[in-house]
Order: sequence, then C-alpha cells, then structure tokens
Amino acid sequence: MKNFALAGNPNCGKTTLFNSLTGSTAHVGNWPGVTVDKREGIYKKCEQPVNIVDLPGIYSLSPYTPEEVISRNYILKEKPDCVINIVDATNLERNLYLTTQLLEMDVPVVVALNMMDVVNKEGNDVDAEKLELALGVPVIKVSALKGSGLKELMNRAYVETENPRKGRSVISDKTVDKIIDSCRKDLEAKNIDNALFYALKLVEADELAVNTYPEVAEKVKKYTDKTEDETFGKDFEALIADARYKFISSECSSAFIQHEKNKKTNMSKSDKADKVLTNRILGIPIFLIILFAVFHLTFSENFLFIGALLPEGWVSCAGTAFEGVFGDGGINSPGVILFNLLDLTTSSISDAVASAMETSGASAWASGLLVDGILGGLFAILSFLPQILLLFLFFSILEDSGYMARVAFILDRIFRRFGLSGRAFMPMIMGFGCSVPAMVNTRTLADEKERIATIRVIPFFSCGAKLPILTAIAGGIVMQFGIGNADVITYLMYLLGIVVAIAAVLLMRATTMKGEVPPFIMELPAYHLPQFKSLMLHMWDKVKHFVKKAFTIILASTIVIWFISHFSWSWGYLPDENIDSSILAGLGQLFQPIFTPLGFGSQLGKWGWVFAVAAVTGLIAKENVIATFGTLAACITAGFVADESLEGIDSVVQMISATGITVPALIAFIAFNMLTIPCFAAVATAKAELPGKKSFNMTILFWVVTSYLVSAMVYTIGSWWWTLFIWLAVWATAITLIVLNNLGKLKIPSRKK
Ligand code: GDP
Ligand code: MG
Repeated sequence: MKNFALAGNPNCGKTTLFNSLTGSTAHVGNWPGVTVDKREGIYKKCEQPVNIVDLPGIYSLSPYTPEEVISRNYILKEKPDCVINIVDATNLERNLYLTTQLLEMDVPVVVALNMMDVVNKEGNDVDAEKLELALGVPVIKVSALKGSGLKELMNRAYVETENPRKGRSVISDKTVDKIIDSCRKDLEAKNIDNALFYALKLVEADELAVNTYPEVAEKVKKYTDKTEDETFGKDFEALIADARYKFISSECSSAFIQHEKNKKTNMSKSDKADKVLTNRILGIPIFLIILFAVFHLTFSENFLFIGALLPEGWVSCAGTAFEGVFGDGGINSPGVILFNLLDLTTSSISDAVASAMETSGASAWASGLLVDGILGGLFAILSFLPQILLLFLFFSILEDSGYMARVAFILDRIFRRFGLSGRAFMPMIMGFGCSVPAMVNTRTLADEKERIATIRVIPFFSCGAKLPILTAIAGGIVMQFGIGNADVITYLMYLLGIVVAIAAVLLMRATTMKGEVPPFIMELPAYHLPQFKSLMLHMWDKVKHFVKKAFTIILASTIVIWFISHFSWSWGYLPDENIDSSILAGLGQLFQPIFTPLGFGSQLGKWGWVFAVAAVTGLIAKENVIATFGTLAACITAGFVADESLEGIDSVVQMISATGITVPALIAFIAFNMLTIPCFAAVATAKAELPGKKSFNMTILFWVVTSYLVSAMVYTIGSWWWTLFIWLAVWATAITLIVLNNLGKLKIPSRKK
C-alpha cells in the first residue's frame, strides 16, 4: 500500500485534513503541538487504498524539538511515497518556510493550500499556478474543514508517486552555494539518499547531520573556519534561514492576491481582536475575567447577580418536586441547574432502591452497603458530572478557538525573563482537563530542567477529577456558613492553583532547576469558531472516561471504604452509629494529627478522622475524596441529624459541619487535595516522563511539601490574620537568600556533582 505523510506547521489543519481523509475521529484542537503521537489511517478513494500518517506540527526540520526530529526522521527513514505539505494559506509566507526545506528531500511533495475558505471569505485569493511554478511541485487549493479540493489533492499526490523526485534547493547565496554543492556531490558519491538535504544541514552545522556524516562535516568545517559572511559572520544557519525567506518574498509572496479593500485595512479580524486580547496591560485582566465568566456560568447560584432584584424569599417551583432547582434567592446558572436535576434523579433512585431493599427483607448490612456505601459514594460524584462537562466544554472552546495559545503568549512575555517560557504554559493549561496527557505533552520542551519543573506543577492546574472537591466544599461553605458564592470560591481556588504553580516553577528555575529558556516561536493561529462536532467528541471522551472510572476504581474504593468502616479490628460488624470504632476510623485517627497544622486534624471532634481518610483515598483517584464522604455521610449523620431525609450532597454537607471544622480549615483542605500527590494515573505518568528515579522521588517530596506548606499558610492566615506577617517574613528571607546566592554573594555549600 502507498504511504502518504501529512506535514505542516502546528495549526495548519493537519488533523482536520487527516480526519476528513480517513474518517477517523482523532482529536482536533488548536493546541500547537498536540500531535505528538503518530496517527495513521486509510484513504480509500484513490485507485488503491493509501495509508496516511499525520506527522507532528513543525516550523522547520532543524533538530531542536522532538516533533522536528520525529517528522524529519520519518520522511528520511520511512520514505513515504509522497509528502503532503499542508500550508495555511492565511499565513502563506510563514508556512512556506517549512516547504522550502521539504523540497530539499528526495521525496515527491504536493502542497495543499489549506484554509482557502477563510482566504476567499475575506475576499482574497491565491494564485496556485504561480506558486506551482515557483516551487516546482503541484499546489492544490483545499479546505480541510469544508472538505473541498480533497479529491483532487489526493489524485495529484497519487500521480506524483509514479515518478521519483530529486531534492531541490531554493537557496542561492554566493557564500554557501559552492560548499553545499560540493558536499552534495561527496554524499552522492557515497550513494547516500537525500544528499542535498544533508549537504545543507551540514553547512548549517546541524548536530544530527554532523554526527551521521563526520567526514563530510570535517570538510565543511575547514571551509567555514576560513569563511566569513558580511552580514551573518559565521552564523551559517541564520544565513540559510535568511536565504529561504528571500526566496519566499521574491518568488512566492506575490501569489497571494489581496482584495483591494483589504489592502487598505491590511489587518484581519484576528489581528484586531489580538490588539485587545493580547494587549500588554489588558491581556491578563481579560484572561481573569473570561475565566471568571466560565466559573460563573458553571457554579453560580446567583446568575448574573440578579438575585437582589428578585422578590424576597423567591424560590423557583416552590411546593413542587423541583423546588429550588432553578433558583432560590437568585437564579441558578446553567451548571447548577443541571447539577440539581441530576441530584434529584439520583436521590429518587437511592430512595427507590432503599424501599425495594426494605420490602424484600434484605439484611441491614446489605442494604447499608448498597444504598449508603455504593450508591452514596457513586452518586456523590456523579452529580458533579454536568458541571465537570460544562467546565470542560468551556475550556475546549477557549482552546479550540485559539485563545489559550494567546494566554501562553501573554504569560511568556511576563515570565520568560524568570526562566519560564510560553511553551511550558501550554501543557500546564492542558492540565485543566487531565494531568496525564498534559504531562506527556511536556515532551515539546527542549530544556530538560524546564520540563521537570513543568511536570511537577501540572497537577496544580486543577483537573476535572478534583472539581467535585472544590465544588462540594465550596457549596458546603455557602450552605453552612452562608458566606460567599460557590462560583467565587471555586474560581479563587483555581487561581490559587495557578499562582502556586507559577511561583513554584520560578522558585525551581532560580534554584535547583536552572537552565536556558529556548526561544518561543509560535505563530498565533487565526481565531476559529470551534467546531461543534469536535467539541462533542471531546465531551464524549470525557464522559466515557468518567463512567469507566466510576464503575472501576471509584466503585471498588467505595466498597472497600464501606467494609472497613463497618468492621472493627476484631471483625465484628458495626452498625452505623458505632463506625467511629471501625478499622477505618482507627486508621484515620492515626493520620489525623498530621493534619492538625492544616486545620483538619486533632482539633476536630469525634468525626474529624473522615478528612484524613478522604485525603488518603484521594491518592487513588481524586474523585474518591468526595465519594468517601458520600459513602460515610449517610452512616455518620444517621445517628444525630434530625432531618433524616437529607440525601446525596446535602448529607455530605451535614456531615462536614458535624465535625466542627472552620471555614479556613475547609479551604485548607481543598488546597491540600489540589496540590498534594495527584492520582495514581498522574503519578505513574510522571514516573514514566521524568528522567530518573531521583527526580521522581524529589517530585513526590515536592508535592507533599508544597501542599502541606500552602494549606498550612491558608489555614493559619485564615484563622489568625496576623500570621500573614510571619509567613511574609519567612518567604522574604528565603527569597533574599536565593537571590544573594545566585548573585554569588553567598556561598551555600552544594553537594559535589
Ligand atoms: P493541526 O494542528 O495542524 O493538526 O491543526 P487542526 O487540524 O487541529 O486545525 C486547527 C484549527 O483550524 C481547527 O480549529 C480547525 O477547525 C481549523 N481548520 C482546519 N482546516 C480548516 C479549513 O480548511 N478552514 C477553516 N476555516 N478552518 C480550518
Ligand atoms: Mg493536530
């Protein structure tokens, strides 16, 4: 079977084209660098089926990033029958830079001019024939999104595979022409494929090429040692890059036909939006506002803050089964309405199961296990699914539209000088979805130390699984203590995660993880309206993942928790009222003192151990924290809560308040769970992605220490405001010591390497 490779810049539409051609449902996003994995599929509409490979997005074939090396080696070694070079026609000159390099390889190349729908919509056009003449390979206009031109593209590509193609260079420069040519001849004499490509790379002093052909590299070195260019000196890499751009601007740029009216404004809509959205001063505040809007839509019980305008004591659907679902005091946001509806459903299921168990005469422990243990635990988590999905949907929209790439850009501008590049922010922001793919995505970071630091802080970007912790406890705070709004509390907790992450990276980059910050070249993709289908696919993946987890890890955990909470050390069955003498309570009480400085330790009453237990079960999966509360709530509250009808999350709130915990301690509890060792899957991924055992062990220690310190800070400052000054003094001293040490004014003895 013939084999075609798709190559192009990040965001040029490779994955979209790949999906249209192969009909597969691979992830489509606006995330530069998401395509680290190799994806393959079959195109069936040519004479013969064709295998198609989606290569990672790249800007050049230099050896600096893993994506570049993957793509380049694939073409050189696997020798596809044709390379389809996807070029974003809205960004022609920038994209052709890669094309000039692909042309140097001995492989048939066909250029797919993508996004032609956007170009045409703006009234512009591209002269494909002119481009074809300049590049010497077929150029076909397509729209991967609309599916136009794809058949022609594939047929042209198929025809091209019939004739072998020799590499061709567009570079013409008197300083290097001769040496390139002579290298090429040397390599050809040795029967080496892609001689022209390697000859150029040798002149660029490309590390991989130099290592592969040391003798020819020696010859280049002799030449370059005695040569100096007027403009570029000894930087031949820059000289060649410049020659490529010269070719593009003299031969190709005129192929882009701009409509008269656009010539004047000469600024696309995206550029205009970027003037505001990536503004030096406004960029960050706008991001914070957008983020708040997202949380408001998902969690607010006072939607658009119109509660004050409503009549006193207003309750939606008062007196019906739906009482309060749509609002109570204020209007509920869409997320809360969905949450209430699901909670209503799960409560009725629990009720039905409970009465069925009763009529069938099942034993007390069996019905306790099923209704309180399993359903109590599972439903406590399940009711958050709508909010998890909604939040995830908003993040997907921000990502797919191209906005998140801007956020990375804005942050890069601020933090680059402190050793943190925009490239590192992209996997971090992905962490809002799930830490596991985000950690894998750090492979795009060239500097190993930056990569280690990034992997460590990714879990601080609170993922979907941690969301129930934030929401349930925020809801509890609002319900029990009547302070704040659930949306404000969750939003602030997310921000706390981001701030701790950035502070921790900066601290590491200033101390143990010092290193270069490689340049962050990223073309900001034009804003796109996200595709409905792709958003739904993202969400569907999330639902599948959630359901799978619910019926495996979480289910198993709730059963184990229920059993060890209803048996004593002597294996006698304990009724609900006595579970504080269970095995679980015993274990919890053992750990409890550790959490005293964080506010949820020994100072709590009889039931305080549930916090210790929940935090520990969270190490398996973060959903377990609230599932554990759910499993235990029914039994614990059974003894003393007057309102026996409380169910689901309400009974969790009852139980929490029965422990006598304070608001600062609850916030500290959220912070601890958000920042401590992440779930099992994330730990395993970190282990696989980190370079060695030592850095992995240090990472675990880092998580433990950071979570402990930050929650202790939250608790103490929240409880006794003046402790703020003590913490400030401690941090100021630490930072001063680090700065002095880095300036060389202080000699902190370091271990020998
Ligand atoms: P990749 O990074 O190269 O894999 O790019 P993607 O396939 O993820 O596409 C990036 C964005 O461009 C997505 O939002 C796509 O919906 C959008 N896109 C891709 N091709 C086209 C096209 O032909 N026209 C338009 N209007 N948008 C496109
Ligand atoms: Mg892609």
